[in-house]
Amino acid sequence: MGNNLNRRSFLKASLMGTVAAAVATAAVAKETFNPLVAEAADIVAPIKETSEFPYTVDEKYQRLPGDKIYYIKAFDPEENKTPIKFVHEDVSTITGKKDTGKDLPRLNAEALGIKGRRATVSETEVRVIAQHDGTSPPLRDGEEGWRQIDVALAFAAWAVELSYSGFTAIGSGPSGISYQYPINPETNEVAKEPVAVQGIYNWDNSLAEARRNEGRQWKFSSAEEATKYIKRAAIHLGADLVGIAPYDDRWTYANWCRPKHKPFKLPNGRTAYVPYNLDKVLKNEGAEVFGLNKFDADWEKYAGFKPKYVIAVAFEMSYEAFRTAPSILQSAGPGMAYSKMGEMTIKLATFLRDLGYNAIPSGNDTGMSIPIAVQAGLGEAGRNGLLITQKFGPRARIAKVYTDLELIPDKPKSFGVREFCRLCKKCADGCPAQAISHEKEAKVLQPEDCGPSEVPYTSKWHVDAHRCNSFWAYNGNDCGVCIAVCSWNKIGQWNHDVARIATQVPLVQDAARKFDEWFGYNGPVDPEERIESGYVKNKVIDFWNNMEPIK
Ligand code: SF4
Ligand code: SF4
Repeated sequence: MGNNLNRRSFLKASLMGTVAAAVATAAVAKETFNPLVAEAADIVAPIKETSEFPYTVDEKYQRLPGDKIYYIKAFDPEENKTPIKFVHEDVSTITGKKDTGKDLPRLNAEALGIKGRRATVSETEVRVIAQHDGTSPPLRDGEEGWRQIDVALAFAAWAVELSYSGFTAIGSGPSGISYQYPINPETNEVAKEPVAVQGIYNWDNSLAEARRNEGRQWKFSSAEEATKYIKRAAIHLGADLVGIAPYDDRWTYANWCRPKHKPFKLPNGRTAYVPYNLDKVLKNEGAEVFGLNKFDADWEKYAGFKPKYVIAVAFEMSYEAFRTAPSILQSAGPGMAYSKMGEMTIKLATFLRDLGYNAIPSGNDTGMSIPIAVQAGLGEAGRNGLLITQKFGPRARIAKVYTDLELIPDKPKSFGVREFCRLCKKCADGCPAQAISHEKEAKVLQPEDCGPSEVPYTSKWHVDAHRCNSFWAYNGNDCGVCIAVCSWNKIGQWNHDVARIATQVPLVQDAARKFDEWFGYNGPVDPEERIESGYVKNKVIDFWNNMEPIK
């Protein structure tokens, strides 16, 4: 309904009419907002730049070890010994609402044939991956959004990331490993036994070294010129947003690691390398995982240089796919972004290397993307633990390219997200696992506030990865509701531009969230209502019937 309103009736109906009218005459970010709306935004809600990282990082802060990232931890056999425990075992004591996430680990254990206890981290993740890669069908198999055709599209969107990038979305070690079936050039036959090869994110800087040895390192006239060319190249090569951050050791994982894999014979006679016991999963006999290969986070040793700057890039994810969240069709959104980011970042790294500069392309591996993107001015860190960009809200995925080329870094920008998140809480209300904190203020998390993948001593809202992933395992893949319902998840239409800017104006912030709901924008927030009302089903039907992406 909101999308069909004309400008006049929107302003009339709007509690924000006065503000919107004022906003509609001026210019914040012309490239972001409709010019009609943009003109006055820098008066009403100016963007603030800061020199330092904008959130508190306590002096006790220590880098997050790679083996403590949830997805990597899941392949550590130690994590298969203790059933999952949430940070807040019963969120109803905090929220006053029924705890919808509490029984998920038990339901996941039962799906694996385990009785009388909750699933462990490994058991939970193995279920997510087995459904993610099509090894086992989802629980809701057959419902709109969970049908074979929906699952197949999601799987297809992830295909480059899964087959060629080495699945760095789970945060594996530098470069990722993929298993390829070689072709015999004499007979044209495809081998049944795969070989392990470097994934798309390759760490080979020999091209840069060769250019330097040839005396052909490209000299930019200045760091400003280099920055302009690199940003132009990044956009041409497929990034939707680009910013530069100074290299900051705090955001590099304290160690790098990847799960160990073992070979399994598939029914088609081929061999597949899998980080868990495939036979056991197929027979519903629980999870067995094979451990981790750990490496020092040593740039000189593995990359041949120490980075000076990080080029942070972001990719918009499909608005239509996210409207179907938490269906599996939603996963076609992140799948496309992950598949694109490997392709784009290796191209940008090749550009730099061909100019004689070292470069390392990276997806989720190597270092934490969100603080890097914040430092590069791409957005703010929201309540849902995600980067909130001005243009796409949280509907964007981040990758990065580390380099030793001299560049001019961007500054972190604040456009009101954190202030708005204090009141909005839409993601927390919408989360089917109640994984997102309802506390009003972000705070410096202490060790006891933190679950896996959370680093203590930094300022943010708690997001419980155990709860989130437990829902994923139950749901049959990932989820994405916290992105879909976010008040910042907008498309580029003037009424949404007004609403986006209204989130920055203290007097109407409270109305801004309600506004989305009154106009039915982004669907029901209540997790049960979202599915039971038929909203998800209708959006799945819309997805398959509309040829043109909504912009
Ligand atoms: S993806 Fe977001 S909404 Fe879904 S369970 Fe996880 S935190 Fe909650
Ligand atoms: S839904 Fe609201 S509270 Fe959550 S991240 Fe988005 S703006 Fe912030």
